[in-house]
Amino acid sequence: MRISTITNWAYGLTIVMTLVSSVSFLLSAKAANDERATIEHRLALEEFGDALALESEVRSDQARLFVMRGGAERHLAAFRREENQITAMERAIDGLRRLGLTPAEGAALHQAERNLDELDALERSAIAKMRGGDREGAQALLFGPDHERAQAAVLDPIARFRELVSTRSDMMVQQAQKTADALSLVAKTMLGLTALLFLAVLYFVLRRRVVLPLARMAGIVNRLANQDYAVDVPADRRRDEIGDMNKAIQIFRNNGLERDRLDAAQRADRETKDLILQMMHRLQACESQDELAEVVTCFAPQIFPGLPGHLYVLNDSRNGLSRVGTWLDPAQPVTAFPSTACWGLRRGRPHVSNRARNDVPCPHIGESGVTSLCVPLTAQGDTVGLLYFEEAADGETAAATGLYLELMAENIGLALANLRLRERLTNLAIKDALTGLFNRRCLDETLNRRARDRKAEPLSCLMIDIDHFKRFNDEFGHDAGDAVMQHVAQVMLDIVGAHGSVYRFGGEEFSILLPDIAAPGAFDTAERLRDAVASAPLAYRGRILGAVTISVGVAASPEDSPTNSLINRADAALLEAKRRGRNRSVRASGAEGVEDSAAA
Ligand code: GH3
Ligand code: MG
Ligand code: MG
Repeated sequence: MRISTITNWAYGLTIVMTLVSSVSFLLSAKAANDERATIEHRLALEEFGDALALESEVRSDQARLFVMRGGAERHLAAFRREENQITAMERAIDGLRRLGLTPAEGAALHQAERNLDELDALERSAIAKMRGGDREGAQALLFGPDHERAQAAVLDPIARFRELVSTRSDMMVQQAQKTADALSLVAKTMLGLTALLFLAVLYFVLRRRVVLPLARMAGIVNRLANQDYAVDVPADRRRDEIGDMNKAIQIFRNNGLERDRLDAAQRADRETKDLILQMMHRLQACESQDELAEVVTCFAPQIFPGLPGHLYVLNDSRNGLSRVGTWLDPAQPVTAFPSTACWGLRRGRPHVSNRARNDVPCPHIGESGVTSLCVPLTAQGDTVGLLYFEEAADGETAAATGLYLELMAENIGLALANLRLRERLTNLAIKDALTGLFNRRCLDETLNRRARDRKAEPLSCLMIDIDHFKRFNDEFGHDAGDAVMQHVAQVMLDIVGAHGSVYRFGGEEFSILLPDIAAPGAFDTAERLRDAVASAPLAYRGRILGAVTISVGVAASPEDSPTNSLINRADAALLEAKRRGRNRSVRASGAEGVEDSAAA
């Protein structure tokens, strides 16, 4: 039952009981008044009876005095007055009856009236005898036994009347007292009950409205003090102090929750920044693109949990992207695509592809319809790659953490550009600009390293010189000579492939190192090389340059002799090839001379 219902009932009952109590008090007071009126009534009736008896005696006395004093007129006059007085009183008896005499009381009075009349008649006849001169007859009547009986007959009913009145009054007084006592008891009981009810309601209201809410709030405040913000603070819309306190506690809890949320956000923020910092340190230490891809693949899912993605890098020709890293198994598995197939790369800004959001999707995500984010990786204004994220299963997108994304993309882009720059510088240091082959310094370093490492595996060396190269310069110009040199270099790269390294030794001379290949294999390679070069007639800007031939000197280590003399021995073999007429391969064979191959 609602408190308001209970209190309303209690207020209603209190009012009813107060009314009953008041009415009881009034009725009790009325009963007391009735009692007093009854007593007054009784006294009046008793006085009336007494007065009647007294008047009767006075009248008898006046009649007797009239007779005794020999007919004195003043006693007769007094007798007459008393007679009138009694007559008046007798008339009053009718009035008394109307005031509520009982029949018995009325009968007693009536009897007394009748007897008074008889006494009056007796005394009148005595007065008449006196006046007629019969004094003795008059005396006999007034002092005789008849008169005495008549007088007694008057007093008896009056005495009975008084007794009846007294009895009735006593009963009425008792009744009135009883009623007054009962009503007073009712009034007091009601008053007591009202007080009790009031106290009960007060206790109930205090307990329900003050004590219990305060106890509940104390519990909540304790839990909040222990930073347990999961505690439920029920809404209390009361407009009293308790309601105000409840509101204050709610605000306190909300503030706590907000502070917790901010703390968690700050913690997550710090952790993400730490992760990005860790990734940055590792990116800076990367020696190659593969290492960089490994670092990104490791850290990206930690920085953006639940967001699968790929790392693409721009190829050397800058027209396509190749995938070098992937994490969390993205739905879109594309490994390479042209740079024009990405809106992010075209615009140089992050681009969200989602057909449902009415923005143009990147062509490279195909028909998968997956929501994705492409973030171009740039460094010093140059695009170097692309970070690709797919929407997580819970709908979170990397765009939601744009600042970190920017930081991450910037760092990966810089690291990639640094790697590229380092690669370019390294190439500049170890490669020949015209042919793209390793340079002489690189050859020396390789041989020195090998000599230091004292490797036991075989190593063959080919020294190559283009025959009559000067002729191309002289006849067709240096550009044509350069083209011849580039052509020969490419043929050498094609033939050697992954089996060895090709170096530009200087001028139109080249060296080839073939690790793990012994002299016979090396000589075979030299011959294939010579055939390949010779079998492709060259043209430059529409002019036939004619056949290009090469002479090759072949030496091997360690079976022939130590590595440090490898070049010299191969060079000696090359000189021998030249001496023997060019377009041939000659194998250095130590003191025993050279193995020879002649042009076909
Ligand atoms: P041989 O058969 O005896 O080797 O005769 P050759 O003409 O090939 O030899 P020579 O040493 O007489 O000539 C080499 C020429 O190569 C001299 C030089 O001008 C030319 N040369 C060296 N480096 C380059 C280069 O980078 N580009 C061009 N176009 N010519 C070069
Ligand atoms: Mg030469
Ligand atoms: Mg030459």
